[in-house]
Amino acid sequence: MILVLKSGITMEQVENVVNKMKKLELETHISRGKNLTILGLVGDTQKLDISTLESIEYVDKVLRVQEPFKRTNRMFHPENSTVKVGDQIIGGSQLAIIAGPCSVESEEQILEVANGVKQAGAQMLRGGAYKPRTSPYGFQGLKEEGLRLLKKAKEQTDLPIVTEVISPELVEVVSAYADVLQVGARNMQNFALLKEIGKTNKPVLLKRGASATIEEWLLAAEYILSEGNPNVILAERGIRTFEKYTRNTLDLSAVPVVKKLSHLPVIIDPSHAAGKRDWVIPLAKAAVAVGADGIIVEVHNQPEVALSDAAQQLTIPMFHQMMDELSKIAEAVGRNI
Ligand code: PEP
Ligand code: MN
Repeated sequence: MILVLKSGITMEQVENVVNKMKKLELETHISRGKNLTILGLVGDTQKLDISTLESIEYVDKVLRVQEPFKRTNRMFHPENSTVKVGDQIIGGSQLAIIAGPCSVESEEQILEVANGVKQAGAQMLRGGAYKPRTSPYGFQGLKEEGLRLLKKAKEQTDLPIVTEVISPELVEVVSAYADVLQVGARNMQNFALLKEIGKTNKPVLLKRGASATIEEWLLAAEYILSEGNPNVILAERGIRTFEKYTRNTLDLSAVPVVKKLSHLPVIIDPSHAAGKRDWVIPLAKAAVAVGADGIIVEVHNQPEVALSDAAQQLTIPMFHQMMDELSKIAEAVGRNI
């Protein structure tokens, strides 16, 4: 971290700031020019608050030279990390394909979709039992009954279950059924939820908030890691921009950026970015091409009557087509599916 001191200050005033830094157990390197005096801080600066430092007398500006996230930072963990779900490894050479409906709606629906996506080559089943809906009048999910239906689908297909947990009190019950706990975009900064999940060692799929920066997203992951759970998979699902033809704007650049900044696996959710099924397959292909570690995609046996996200869910035949097309892209970028 670097402190830029106010111009024209005396050496005595500089010493005053240096002494304050000593009290914070930080060493300082002074460089004093004609107009500017700069202090380089050395030590554990992770916990320092920029605005507190900026309020110190004689300090003009504070600049961070290191990212504020630590455990998620590639600097502290140069190798890619992988997350094990059942016998699948996420973040390795094989792409993780997670497919299933937006919401679990009935036994018939979830079993038909689970068998359909399994046949096409999906490795995990998604389905929301607790739904974080923007409107309180929207379908809120079958809740624990939905979890029981997911368990039934797992027993039939052997597909591990990815399902969302929307509040800290539900972590225990959802963990009893889920193989991967999903944190939705709307809950990315629900810090009480992140901490509770951090105390388990369940794999976590952490969606990026619709208006979250990459730094905020990695700091949300940091909450989970700092509680002791290293099994975090990041999922980019589109961010809010001025564009209205798509539901969200898929930030494909987040994949190479996060791969540089962090060691965590990153997957893409083309469904919530597109908002319309016609655009899901092209976005999924782009995701594989740009280096994502997998895809989480919505698939429904009868999307036109789905209780949530009807417009964006792929039909089962479309999912087969997606898998065929993805296998060619995967091969071209040295991955397998
Ligand atoms: C979902 O996966 O169905 C969902 C609600 O996604 P997001 O949190 O990305 O909106
Ligand atoms: Mn959805």
